[in-house]
Amino acid sequence: MSDIKHPATVAIVGAGLVGCLNAIYFAQRGWNVVLYEHRKDMRLPEEKINQRGRSINLAVSERGLSALRKVDMGLEEIVLGAAVPMRARMVHLGKDTQTSQAYSVHGEHINAVDRGRLNELLLNVVGDLPNVRLGFEHHLLHANLENGTMEFSVGPEKIKVFKTADLVIGTDGAYSKTRSQMMRSMRMQYSQEYIDTAYCELSMPPAKDEQGNDTYALDPNHLHIWPRHTFMLIALPNLDHSFTCTLFMPFEMFESINTSEKLLEFFQENFPDSIPLIGTKRLVEDYFANQKGSLINIKTSPHNFKDKALILGDAAHAMVPFYGQGMNCGFQDVEVLHEILDKHNVLPSKHENGKIDDLEAALDEYSRVHVKDTHAICDLALYNHYEMQSAVTSVRYLARKKLEGI
Ligand code: FAD
Repeated sequence: MSDIKHPATVAIVGAGLVGCLNAIYFAQRGWNVVLYEHRKDMRLPEEKINQRGRSINLAVSERGLSALRKVDMGLEEIVLGAAVPMRARMVHLGKDTQTSQAYSVHGEHINAVDRGRLNELLLNVVGDLPNVRLGFEHHLLHANLENGTMEFSVGPEKIKVFKTADLVIGTDGAYSKTRSQMMRSMRMQYSQEYIDTAYCELSMPPAKDEQGNDTYALDPNHLHIWPRHTFMLIALPNLDHSFTCTLFMPFEMFESINTSEKLLEFFQENFPDSIPLIGTKRLVEDYFANQKGSLINIKTSPHNFKDKALILGDAAHAMVPFYGQGMNCGFQDVEVLHEILDKHNVLPSKHENGKIDDLEAALDEYSRVHVKDTHAICDLALYNHYEMQSAVTSVRYLARKKLEGI
């Protein structure tokens, strides 16, 4: 093989949470990084207006923080600066009965952060890196992964553009195009399962304190849950003193609650303490305006196609959100991948023939060691669906927590 080396380029498809973090890691390794994203730049003023009122928040846990910490660019501090710590879950059992269940005897906690804000913060860091190029409004249509060619539809005119890269990484979410293109070239095991439960986001505005200042309507250092066996309501705090609530319920219940009267009657019966906090007008507006999202579990194996392509995050393992670990696991994918690239001493350079030394061995090892962990957490997330809806209210569960001293 010739000794003349050329800089290697990685194309990352999808500038969501996992794609941005992966771009930062690859840039730090010295690769040329191109991050393609189907949407417009979410930091543009007009895009911020489109997002207003859509505050979906996420719980960031130690699993995700560890990956942020490893990049050593102050990312953990940046993210925690935009987060509200949640030290326990508050279970709302009946009208005036609540019980606080700490997440840890050692004070460990999870953190609520606005998804859009988190994505923006990561994009800001990515945008400042000299070896990263951002391609917004680039929608991947097809890819020939064997030779690293990708076809994108670009901008509102949907112009067809071809791009190439030495390595293609799909961080393009649960309905990943990168994954479907990989599946044309290789024997990838793939399974998906929709659950009967759908979700709908509702917002709980700030309350007012005695001086008329905004304050939280509920204790902000808790993840609030109203478990009702086949359905539940949860609420996570935001920095602006509001809460984002999510109603999880079977699709057929969403379909049957189809008038304001039915909705208010349902809330009066099941979540009466939440009504004055959300407000009836807002409750009705949000319930009927907001989408009823479906929830999917996806497992794939392996996650790489030779040294040509790899999927990370939801593209590789979408999970139902009841463990609060989807994004955290995506961040962990990035951390594990780069530990393995380090171990194999994969350098950001290629030979004349396009080969990158040791990359294939590293990506094979990534699939070999990490895929089974992603399958396990998909299963745990499904189990936690049961735990959050029902088990947290059971006498046995509460007794066990008491014994643990929590
Ligand atoms: P995504 O966030 O889906 O990003 C994919 C990106 O790829 C998007 O920007 C998209 O526009 C782009 N894209 C898609 N197709 C193309 C294409 N063809 N070409 C170019 N770009 C493309 N996780 C947690 O860790 N904690 C939580 O508390 C939590 N709560 C959740 C609550 C709910 C209700 C839901 C539904 C999920 C929750 N999750 C949570 C899961 C979390 O949202 C996902 O795991 C996470 O967003 C996955 O990130 P990602 O970057 O892999 O994919």
